[in-house]
Amino acid sequence: MIVVTDKKSLASQLFSQRQNDKKIGFVPTMGALHRGHLALVNRALKENDIVVVSIYVNPTQFDNQTDLQKYPRILQSDKALLEGLNGNILLYTPNNEDIYGEEVRSEAFNFSELERKMEGKYRKGHFDGVATVVSKLFEIVKPHRAYFGEKDFQQLLIIKELVRMKNLPVEIIGCPIVREENGLAMSSRNKRLTPEQLEKATIIHQTLSDVREKFESHTIPALNEMVRERFLQEPSLELEYFQIAEASTLEEAKQNKADDQYRAFIAAYCGEVRLIDNMALN
Ligand code: AMP
Repeated sequence: MIVVTDKKSLASQLFSQRQNDKKIGFVPTMGALHRGHLALVNRALKENDIVVVSIYVNPTQFDNQTDLQKYPRILQSDKALLEGLNGNILLYTPNNEDIYGEEVRSEAFNFSELERKMEGKYRKGHFDGVATVVSKLFEIVKPHRAYFGEKDFQQLLIIKELVRMKNLPVEIIGCPIVREENGLAMSSRNKRLTPEQLEKATIIHQTLSDVREKFESHTIPALNEMVRERFLQEPSLELEYFQIAEASTLEEAKQNKADDQYRAFIAAYCGEVRLIDNMALN
């Protein structure tokens, strides 16, 4: 695996690949890699000749400075995990200056309704930060295909919209959520949880599974109530939002219409660690 820390070296590594018409896959990450990230990289390795993995903790997408400071950074073990995969990987680990130059600042985007709910509503400026860094990374890497997890489902839709708005020549591929055996969605932030909290956090996935099971037999207001009640009984978890939404617009669902696709979304705090998860309901 080749490791580069600046965009000039990255461009020169990719130059001959492009000349030879090789397909470039791209997996942007913030590091502290787990099996969820590796599933994206493996899929990209299958579908492309070379895969660029970026590890960069992007300051502009954090609305909470403590979360940014405490975000796990474990580059050596990340490298070891990537070395263990079979294929042609180019790891890019830029610093702030390489991405932003002198001023680490978001551009303002307009994703209208898509950015006003859930993550956009509760994390001010988050999607401007995400869209800014992903635009910059796409500009640097110029991938043919880029891979994003459904774990961040709203982000996946935002990126698709970004590509549509800017008419970028990249195919966005969404990949299913990878979970621990007990159902907990894998997340770099899980590394900050105690063993007891890791156990408690499985309630998030259990709740989503219950909602899916009851989706055809219960009304949406009844499901909303059920979820709120469940979290009220669980003092170690604080529900930030629960929402059932139509899967392509993320419009909040008031009732279940037969032809539409729905997903349920949860954000909850476990101690000071914020966790998100979602699940298709039909
Ligand atoms: P992050 O490092 O958290 O910014 O995530 C980098 C990419 O990995 C994003 O596209 C995430 O949606 C994806 N990802 C993170 N966790 C998972 C997971 N458990 N399953 C699938 N994809 C994931």
